Amino acid sequence: MAQVQRMSRLMVKTLRDDPADAETLSHKLLVRAGYVRRNAAGIWSWLPLGMKVLENVSRVVREEMDAIGAQEVLLPALLPKEPYEATGRWDEYGPELFRLKDRKGAEYLLGPTHEEIFTLLVKDQCTSYKDLPVMLYQIQTKYRDEARPRSGILRGREFQMKDSYSFDTTDEGLAESYALHRQAYIRIFDRLGLRHKIVSAVSGAMGGSASEEFLAPAAAGEDTFAYCPSCDYAANTEAVTFPGTGEPADASAHGPVEVLDTPDTPTIETLAAFLDVPASATLKNLLVKVDGEIVAVGVPGDREVDLGKLEDHLAPAAVELVTAEDFAGRPDLVRGYVGPQGLEKVRYLADPRIAAGTAWVTGANQEGKHARNVVVGRDFEVDEYLDVVVVEEGDPCPTCGAGLKLDRAIEIGHIFQLGRKYADALQLDVLGQNGKPVRVTMGSYGVGVSRAVAALAEQTADEQGLCWPAEVAPADVHVVAAGKAAQTELALSVAEQLGQAGLRVLVDDRAGVSPGVKFTDAELIGVPKILVAGRRTAEGVVELKDRRTGEREELPVAEAVARLA
Ligand code: ATP
Ligand code: MG
Ligand code: MG
Ligand code: MG
Repeated sequence: MAQVQRMSRLMVKTLRDDPADAETLSHKLLVRAGYVRRNAAGIWSWLPLGMKVLENVSRVVREEMDAIGAQEVLLPALLPKEPYEATGRWDEYGPELFRLKDRKGAEYLLGPTHEEIFTLLVKDQCTSYKDLPVMLYQIQTKYRDEARPRSGILRGREFQMKDSYSFDTTDEGLAESYALHRQAYIRIFDRLGLRHKIVSAVSGAMGGSASEEFLAPAAAGEDTFAYCPSCDYAANTEAVTFPGTGEPADASAHGPVEVLDTPDTPTIETLAAFLDVPASATLKNLLVKVDGEIVAVGVPGDREVDLGKLEDHLAPAAVELVTAEDFAGRPDLVRGYVGPQGLEKVRYLADPRIAAGTAWVTGANQEGKHARNVVVGRDFEVDEYLDVVVVEEGDPCPTCGAGLKLDRAIEIGHIFQLGRKYADALQLDVLGQNGKPVRVTMGSYGVGVSRAVAALAEQTADEQGLCWPAEVAPADVHVVAAGKAAQTELALSVAEQLGQAGLRVLVDDRAGVSPGVKFTDAELIGVPKILVAGRRTAEGVVELKDRRTGEREELPVAEAVARLA
């Protein structure tokens, strides 16, 4: 795009109506404003305006990664299976991994994240402690066969990630690389204009120890985090651990866990009666057994389940309610914390069947597979673990005891101290100072580059449409020719002057499009400043409008240009 982009030549088709399948604001607006276009579930094309924003986000990420001394590379997305077998992730990743075969039958995957391949790269390139520390990054297309790719580019099956990896010989070195990334991430999200919170996280499929997430508070977020209003404690609800959880609690030894027992397949009425709720109730958590397997209803981002909607699943399936015995002798299923009243809260966690079971109600249906009678392990593999009884608002802060608050957010970044897990699996050593081999310790760090675009849209959009912060906006000024030839002439001339002053300008010079439509489109597209050549064109007066505040002012062209430049 030149500095001045004419709308008459820009490939953009704005839509008045929300796409039928769109649930989130960013999904609706990015499609309606012509930034992205859906090709298939979780697979998106970036159109010219969207490309600008994506590039702006990438540029900020690059600048801040370069600033901490990380070096940019580009590794393939199509990867051989062997390194992932060596680390166990070929299996551990489960159904989220896209696997494929070449013409000779050799197996490959589409990279969901690249720890293995970077480890091998460094193994090949770095032989001595003198070659370390090293930090490498790429901005690259990632593939994950997400169970619920339903929020537009917030959760793609193909998406852009900045992933980086640090390699150190000492734990202190790793801590330093981690701290550098943490600082860089704060700068990246500040510059992008994304409100964010840093929270403790669980390492999940990545492995390793210390891990923090960068969360952008937004209603559309699929993560819930707990934070303390009195101290600086903040954690993803998946990662909240209460004092007293060092030892797994045995729920059966602590009296009534909230579990239910019924001899027969429950109907919705018996279920409701057991739970002492109306049949139309929305539940936070419910554990049932389907064909003898425990499954959980209620998952992160979708924890509330309409009891009525369960009816379809209950009737034909061999559903039993979970009993206390199911938890007896299974400390791996249950963790509680002990407070003044004894066992105060029980969380069911880390059970693969429970994790997989979540697909029973949500993922399967969302994907149109119409699950009925789905058996965990047969129809779904284990992919990740999660706990299904969550922290609740008002639970005591593990640090200071004050009542915790909860909020929804979008995960925009995640940093891990991996330690030696990958180096052990792939034997990454360098020669140490004393001539002996030293095992390398690693960190891995991700930013959702394409997701950040959607997260920004979520946080900044208003009733009229998108409303970009200056750093990422597709242009600095949107000039609207609101009238006939004279207005268009003035608009183009102002656009030219602004372009020469170094600004990125979008000018709506479309013929045969009414001023009303042009104004609506300008609001929808969301460039921070809108300049209108309208009714006072003959006097050389234009209107300057701030997209966010709506403040407008009439002023002579020269002044308007000076103001913006
Ligand atoms: P989520 O919990 O949302 O599934 P994740 O924890 O699986 O994300 P990571 O493995 O930590 O993701 O990847 C690093 C970053 O990549 C995430 O913080 C997020 O910003 C981004 N990301 C992950 N999955 C997707 C996706 N499906 N679409 C877009 N961005 C994604
Ligand atoms: Mg994920
Ligand atoms: Mg996550
Ligand atoms: Mg993560």
